[in-house]
Amino acid sequence: MFCPFCNEQETKVIDSRLVAEGHQIRRRRECLTCKERFTTFEIAELVLPKVIKRDGSREPFNEEKLRAGLQRALEKRPVSTESIEKAINDIKSGLRATGEREVESEFVGNIIMDNLKELDQVAYVRFASVYRSFEDIREFGEEIARLGKKAP
Ligand SMILES: [Zn+2]
Repeated sequence: MFCPFCNEQETKVIDSRLVAEGHQIRRRRECLTCKERFTTFEIAELVLPKVIKRDGSREPFNEEKLRAGLQRALEKRPVSTESIEKAINDIKSGLRATGEREVESEFVGNIIMDNLKELDQVAYVRFASVYRSFEDIREFGEEIARLGKKAP
């Protein structure tokens, strides 16, 4: 890749190591022209199915949106960032495991809900109210009722 400092094309790798539990490679590079050093990360690109929305349009699965949604739902809850990242990975694995090129948004929603339920029940209810539109308010009520029954 081009040097981000002088745009020269020739850079060399001076160090390479596994990070993120082996899921990423971090490379230190040096520009042969200006001698500046910079870091690149390499991750495997795994194709996730596209999401079919209610109106029939398709959109790529958006990990950032999911992370933001989960963080909002888990605000002030005793859940570590690590657990959230693990849940995001599990959700993506679940989507990949379908082997489908497209999945219904409802299907995605259900995978997210299942994972969130395991993370934190209070957040689960909160997220359910954000995620599902209010036309589903009846269903939301039923969800809460189910949780209530299961509570210790
Ligand atoms: Zn350079």
